[in-house]
Amino acid sequence: MSVFEHPEFDHHESIHFFDEPSTGLKAIIAISSTALGPAAGGCRRWRYLSDADALTDVLRLSRGMTYKNAVAGLPFGGGKAVILADDASPKSPQLLRAFGRAVDSLGGRYITAEDVGITVDDIRIVRQETTYVTGLPQSGEDAGGDPSPWTAMGVFLGLKAAAKARLGSDSLDGVKVAVQGVGNVGFHLCKLLADAGASLVVADINRENLNRVANIVPVTEVAPNEILFADVDILAPCALGNILSAQTIPQIKARVIAGAANNQLSAEIDGERLVERGILYAPDYVINAGGVISCAREYLARSLEDQVRIEVSRIPERLTKIFADAERLNRPTNKIADDLARRIVANASNGTPATPDTRRIA
Ligand code: NAD
Repeated sequence: MSVFEHPEFDHHESIHFFDEPSTGLKAIIAISSTALGPAAGGCRRWRYLSDADALTDVLRLSRGMTYKNAVAGLPFGGGKAVILADDASPKSPQLLRAFGRAVDSLGGRYITAEDVGITVDDIRIVRQETTYVTGLPQSGEDAGGDPSPWTAMGVFLGLKAAAKARLGSDSLDGVKVAVQGVGNVGFHLCKLLADAGASLVVADINRENLNRVANIVPVTEVAPNEILFADVDILAPCALGNILSAQTIPQIKARVIAGAANNQLSAEIDGERLVERGILYAPDYVINAGGVISCAREYLARSLEDQVRIEVSRIPERLTKIFADAERLNRPTNKIADDLARRIVANASNGTPATPDTRRIA
């Protein structure tokens, strides 16, 4: 398996492989860039079909974190960790502590947090081995804790901005929204959407998560293989990535796509395919930055929840500017966002790179 020739390798600064037979830990940490500060990004635990799939995921996700942190104006670079799940190595305190030691061995160049398959309780265990971790519950009104409600808030506000740009109004009253995946983020998003009067269609492969949302808001359930093609105004992907492709895009009926999932486009060209279909796409790493904003403020120990709220509320402004630039320049929104992120990183690379210790306050 080649790394330097890998299609998703984009001059990542470093890639670290961890294998600890005594705990069953198999993990990869990819540091995409530290130009803006230490590489921050969550840890995903997933059952990959192969090591190669895990490498592809971590390379894409870590670069996405570089872009996300840059566009969100945070003093952090981009990184990501994946833990390869299998039956022989269930998630155990020993395994999570081994992951914590792996993070610690990088000396603060990478800061971890929750992602798919990793909970706040897991992060508490990781914290026993390293301080380079965020997403832990805080006391009082300090910023921090589970990032998913903040991600959901940013997605909700961004979705309204996208509705305004494409449907002509940011009122969601009576607007049909399909939510793919009602896990941590999808659950909170459904509550916000229902409160705003949206009519919800949902799908998930996890019955427990479906029941949890159906118990608190009215939803219509459809099969997981139908949700992307539901007859709705807006599609909010909140499960996994690689869902918008040459195969799926022709069948999508929604006019707006605005959701939390990372790496929604299978390839860059899918942004153009969406434009050709008249579908407005809210670039994933711009709209889903609420969680990382909360994690960043917690890590820097600089702010209260109100500050996070203010920063997350800026997400729709950024999206509105991206939508306007895309329209003016006749380019897909994903390319406008990528160019913006690359410019911010390039400007920072011309200066002195930040070191972890100069950035950390707590
Ligand atoms: P989660 O694991 O809690 O929820 C994901 C949900 O999607 C689960 O309920 C799962 O069963 C469901 N799912 C998986 N495959 C599916 C399929 N094919 N069809 C329908 N449902 C399916 O994860 P989360 O924290 O809610 O994150 C959701 C997405 O948002 C991920 O892509 C994640 O990387 C991204 N994201 C999350 C955050 C955050 O703060 N948690 C921040 C930024 C981005």
